[in-house]
Amino acid sequence: MSAECIFCKIINKELDADIVYEDDQVVAFKDINPAAPVHILIVPRKHIPTLLDLEKEDAELMGRLHLVANEIARAFKLDKKGYRLVINTGPDAGQIVFHLHLHLLGGRPLLQTIAKGRGV
Ligand code: AMP
Ligand code: ZN
Repeated sequence: MSAECIFCKIINKELDADIVYEDDQVVAFKDINPAAPVHILIVPRKHIPTLLDLEKEDAELMGRLHLVANEIARAFKLDKKGYRLVINTGPDAGQIVFHLHLHLLGGRPLLQTIAKGRGV
């Protein structure tokens, strides 16, 4: 838990969000500024600032985040047409919230690039 982190506040229910999934290790909620018809952020309860801060002990947690992505994708009926996961790491990737999160994007054909941003 980091006192100033908005995602920690959402996880701790100090800040409202449209939560679509939660378990003992993972919380997922709708992105406030969606870049696609389905745009969900999947976050670990553990405050990890960026992917570069991952430790060996987090390996299983990273796997769980991806299993949750599949579960959400099925719940939002994205399993037939597919979806994209994005993890922005650091300033060149445009990371603005320093609590590790997967962007789950889908519901329309996404650009065939690895670019980040509103044009994904
Ligand atoms: P990133 O550039 O990967 O750090 O993306 C952070 C994402 O968090 C952006 O897509 C924002 O729209 C989203 N975001 C920021 N604040 C909130 C919030 N309070 N609730 C939901 N999504 C948020
Ligand atoms: Zn946090």
